[in-house]
Amino acid sequence: MDEVEFWTSDRIRSEFFNYFRNKNHTFVPSSSTIPLNDPSLLFANAGMNQFKPIFLGTVDPRSEMATLKRAFNSQKCVRAGGKHNDLDNIGKSSYHHTFFEMLGNWSFGDYFKKESIAQSWEVLTAVYKLPKDQIYATYFEGDAENGLEPDLEAKQHWLEQGMAEDHIVPGSSKDNFWEMGKTGPCGPSSEIFFDCVGGRNASHIVNQDDPNVIEIWNNVFIQFNRESDGSFRPLPSKHIDTGLGLERLVYVLQNKRSTYDTDLFLPILTQIQHLTRIRPYEGRFGSIDTDGIDTAYRIVADHVRSLTFILSDGGIPGSVGSGYVLRHILRRGALTARNKLGVTLGSFFSSLMPVVLESLGHIYPEITQRTKEMQEILDSEERAFSQILEKGEKLFQQVTSRAIQQNATEIGGGDVWRLYDTFGFPVDLTRFMAEQLGLGIDEVGFEIAKARSRESSTVSPVGLTQGVALTVHDIAYLRDNFKLEATDDASKHELSTISATVKSIVCDGRFISSTSDILSGTSTGVVLDRTNFFSESGGQIYDTGKIHIGHQCEFEVEQVHSYGGYTLHVGCVRKGTLNVGDTVTSSYDADRRTAICNNHTATHILNLSIRDVLPGPSDQKGSLVVPEKLRFDFQHDGPVALPELSKIEANSVRSITRDMQVFRGVVKLETALKIPGVRAVFGENYSDPVRVVSIGRSLDEILADIENSEWRNFSVELCGGTHVPNTAQIENFVIIEESGVAKGIRRITAVTGSEARNAIGVAVELDARLSRFEGVSAPNVAELKTLTAEITQANISVVKKNEFKERLTLLRKSMQKRLKDSQNEYLKAGVSVVQKYFEEHPNSEVYIGVLETNENPKALREIISRVGNFGQGVLSLQRKGGKQWMESVTAVIGGTNWGDEESAQGVGLNSENLVTAIEVAKKYVMTSE
Ligand SMILES: [Zn+2]
Repeated sequence: MDEVEFWTSDRIRSEFFNYFRNKNHTFVPSSSTIPLNDPSLLFANAGMNQFKPIFLGTVDPRSEMATLKRAFNSQKCVRAGGKHNDLDNIGKSSYHHTFFEMLGNWSFGDYFKKESIAQSWEVLTAVYKLPKDQIYATYFEGDAENGLEPDLEAKQHWLEQGMAEDHIVPGSSKDNFWEMGKTGPCGPSSEIFFDCVGGRNASHIVNQDDPNVIEIWNNVFIQFNRESDGSFRPLPSKHIDTGLGLERLVYVLQNKRSTYDTDLFLPILTQIQHLTRIRPYEGRFGSIDTDGIDTAYRIVADHVRSLTFILSDGGIPGSVGSGYVLRHILRRGALTARNKLGVTLGSFFSSLMPVVLESLGHIYPEITQRTKEMQEILDSEERAFSQILEKGEKLFQQVTSRAIQQNATEIGGGDVWRLYDTFGFPVDLTRFMAEQLGLGIDEVGFEIAKARSRESSTVSPVGLTQGVALTVHDIAYLRDNFKLEATDDASKHELSTISATVKSIVCDGRFISSTSDILSGTSTGVVLDRTNFFSESGGQIYDTGKIHIGHQCEFEVEQVHSYGGYTLHVGCVRKGTLNVGDTVTSSYDADRRTAICNNHTATHILNLSIRDVLPGPSDQKGSLVVPEKLRFDFQHDGPVALPELSKIEANSVRSITRDMQVFRGVVKLETALKIPGVRAVFGENYSDPVRVVSIGRSLDEILADIENSEWRNFSVELCGGTHVPNTAQIENFVIIEESGVAKGIRRITAVTGSEARNAIGVAVELDARLSRFEGVSAPNVAELKTLTAEITQANISVVKKNEFKERLTLLRKSMQKRLKDSQNEYLKAGVSVVQKYFEEHPNSEVYIGVLETNENPKALREIISRVGNFGQGVLSLQRKGGKQWMESVTAVIGGTNWGDEESAQGVGLNSENLVTAIEVAKKYVMTSE
C-alpha cells in the first residue's frame, strides 16, 4: 500500500487525536475562526486563542475551562489580513494557506518541557514513523539584552530523546521566543522541522524558508509574564502550547511535491477542472507555470476553503475587519477564476463549495449547517464584484497600458486612489491585479491622494480608562497565598442589600489592609466574600451603589468587574475607613438596577419579536443593556421595513402588557441547547451548567416536555443577566431607532419604563400640535417649520416619527395647493379689475393701481398677458420708456428694478409709500405725454 492510501489526511488527524486521548487529554472543539470575544484578533490563528483566559490567569474558577489540565484538538485557523497574513503567498507557495488546520496539545499548569518534547518525538517517530535523521529541532539561544538565559533544558530533553546533537539548532528570540502581546504570558519555544530530502545534514538550512526543510510543529513553553516595565517574571503556573500544521504533515507523510498534491486539496482541484473544463492541474510553480493556470488552481482551491469556514462561522463580507478580509479573499479568488480559468462570475464559488463540505464536514459539522445561506452570500458578493469589474476594468487597463508604455514599474498613486474612490477597487485588489502584469503600485502616492481627497480624521482612538484592576499576579496571589475563594455572587439576582466581609483592598497596584492611609477620592478596589453587585458581562452594565458600615463608613461603588472569579468593586471611600475583615452592608442602587432589569428582559422580548416578524435568520450580533436604554444588534439584510418594525414594537408591547412571569434556572448546557427555539449568542463561551431565562413558561414546565415545538413561541435564552420578575414591570416599550451597523447587521435601540413613558408623552404632544395644524385653513409657515424640526429631533417611536413625517408632507402639500388656489383667486380678481378699468376708460392707455397677488411674483406678468389676450393691447408702453418709469416708482418705495424699455419690473420694501408711488407713476405718465 503506498503512503497516500495508508496515510490519508483523516487517518493522520485521528491518529493524533488517539495519541493524546490516550495520554489523558480532553478534546476541546475548535473555536470559531472569528474570535467574537477577542477584539485583538481578526481571525483565530492558533489553537491557543480560546485558552487565553487560562494563560492570562483570568479564567473563572467555576467555569468548565478552569478544570482543564490537558487538552487537544484540531483548530480551524485563518491567516489572512492583520499581523499574520499569508494571503500574498497563496498560489506561489507550495505550503502556505489562508485556511489551515492546526493540531495541538496543551498542558495547563500540568506537565512541562520534558514530557511535551517526549510526546512530540513519540508522535512523529513512533506513530507517524518519520525517519529520525530527517527531523530537526530548534531551541531558544537566549537574549542577554533582556536578561534571558538560553533554553538549554529544551536542548537537553531533545538529546535525551535520542536526537543527534547536530540536529538541534539554536534560534534567536525572533524565532524562538513567543509572546502573546507587549505584556502578558510568554516563553521560549522549540520548533520541529522536517527535511523532505534526507540523506544529508540539513541543519544549516533549518528555519531558512527552504521549501524542502519545513517547520511542522512548534512547542511553546509558557513560563514568564512580560510586565509593563518590560521585565520577565515567572508565572504562577507554567503551560504548554503546541501547534502542528496538518496540511504540512500530510504533505510529508504522503510524500508529495506540495501540500496541494495531497488528498486535502486534490478533490477540490478535480472539481475546479470539472466546473471550468480547463486543462488538468499539473503542479507547476513560478516561471515554469507559464500560463499561470496551476497557480490559479491553487489560489482558488485555497480560497474556497477559507471562504467556507469563515462564512460558516458567521462571517459577513464588509468593508472593515474580518468582513473586509472575507470580501478580499472572494474577490481575489473570483478575479483569478475569471482571468485564468475562464469562469463567468456569478455563482462559481458557491458551486465549488460542496466539495469542501464533503471532505471536511465530518470533522467540522458546523460548515454543513447553513449551506444555502452561505451560498447566497457568495453569489451576491460575486455578482456585485463582477459589476465593479465591468465598470473599473477599463480604467485599470488604460492606467496599466500607459504605465507599461512609459516603462514604469508601478501605477501612480492618484490612479490607484481613483480606482478605489470611483469604482470601489480595493487597493489590495489593484495591487494584486497589477502584480499579474508585473507592476507595483505607488503606495506613498496613494496615501497622499487619499489624504487629499478625504478629510483626515482627527479623532484618535480613545483608550480605556485605566482603572483599578486585578492582574494575573494579583489573582494568583489571592488564590494561592491568600487562599481566597472566588466571590460568592449568588445573591446578585435576589437581594438589594446583604451583609458581607471585606476580604481584600487594592489601591495603586498593591494590596492594603486598611484605607486609613490613602487620600480621599483615590480610586480603590474592594473584594468581598460575597456580593449582590452585578459585574459587567454579556452586554449588561455593572451596578453602582454603596458598601457601608452603619453611618461610620461609606464606600461608593462606581464600577464592578470580575477577574478570575473575584468580583472587584471599584470606587472611593467617601466617609470613614474600610479595613480588611470588616463586616459591611453591600447595597446596590435599586432604582438603577430596576431600570437595567426592565431593559434586559425587554431585550429578550425584542429578540423573540424580531425572530417572529422577520423572515430569515436574525441571530444576535451584540447587545447593550444600560439604565437609559437597550440596544440590540442582529443579522438582517438592509433596513427593517416600517410595517415590520411597527409589528416588532407592537408584539413586544403585547408581551409586556400580558403580565408574564419571568423564570430563571440553572440547567446543563447540553440540555438547555435542546429546547426548541432557545436563543444563544454564537461564539459565546457559556458555563456548564448554564443559566436559562424563560418568559411566560416556567423552566420546569419546559424541561418536563423538552421536545415540544411550542416553546418556540416563548422567549427562552441562555443568559446570566438580571431580569424583572414579571413583564408588567417593564410597563412599556418604544423603539426609538433602527439603523445599520455593518453590511448584514442592523441595530434597534429601544426604551422602557419611565423613558418609554416620556417618549410616548412627547409623541402625544407632537401629535396634538400636528392635528391643530391640520385643522386650520392657513397654518403659520414659520410655526410649521419649528414643529418639523422638533419632530425630526424628538426621541420618540420610529414608527410614530415616520407617521408624523408623512402627515407633515401631506400638510405641506395641502398648504401649497391652498396657496396656489388663493393666488389664482387674486389673479382672476386682478384681471377683472384691469379689464373693467379699460372697459370704463376706453381711451386710457395705462392702468395705474394696486393689485393684490398673495406672494405670487409672476402674477403681474400673468395679468398683463391675460388682459392682452382679451385684445385690449392697451398696455403697450413703448413710447413711454418702461425702465425709466419703473425707476421713478422704485425710488419712492425703496427697492430695485430690472427689465427694459418694453417691459420693466421692480420691488421695494417701503409699502407705506405705496400711495405716493402711485401718484409718482401717474405724474410720470402725464408729464411724458
Ligand atoms: Zn440576556
